[in-house]
Amino acid sequence: MAGACLFCEIARSSTSTPLLHTDDKVVAFQDINPSAFRHYLVIPVSHISTVKDLRRRMEDYDLANHMLNVGKSLLYKDAPNSKQYRFGFHKPPFNSVNHLHLHCFALPFIPRWKHVKYMSLGPLGGFIEAEKLLEKIKP
Ligand SMILES: [Zn+2]
Ligand SMILES: [Zn+2]
Repeated sequence: MAGACLFCEIARSSTSTPLLHTDDKVVAFQDINPSAFRHYLVIPVSHISTVKDLRRRMEDYDLANHMLNVGKSLLYKDAPNSKQYRFGFHKPPFNSVNHLHLHCFALPFIPRWKHVKYMSLGPLGGFIEAEKLLEKIKP
């Protein structure tokens, strides 16, 4: 039910959410509830639920890689002095919204305890760094 998905609506620009980047594959916007100095989300325009739906194939690898590049260029432009950047995805069942989204952080986390939400919990799920995901789905 794509019509019920908030992120699909954002990608179609049918909400008031300001978009920081748009192209035919992805859009980017600020997290509604920012957890860091800068906290952006990059999402695919077409509905993909979670990282579990990404396969080891060129199409998916290119998409994820493009999401990461868009996130990086936005943060490097908007927070050039940040000491640390982090990029990653929730892994089910820890995803908050069921539309694939890359979290892009220019640290520090604000407030500091927020980092627990984005810790990698290994095989239990949690959070996967974008580079790790790319390695996993590289064809
Ligand atoms: Zn969606
Ligand atoms: Zn999330």
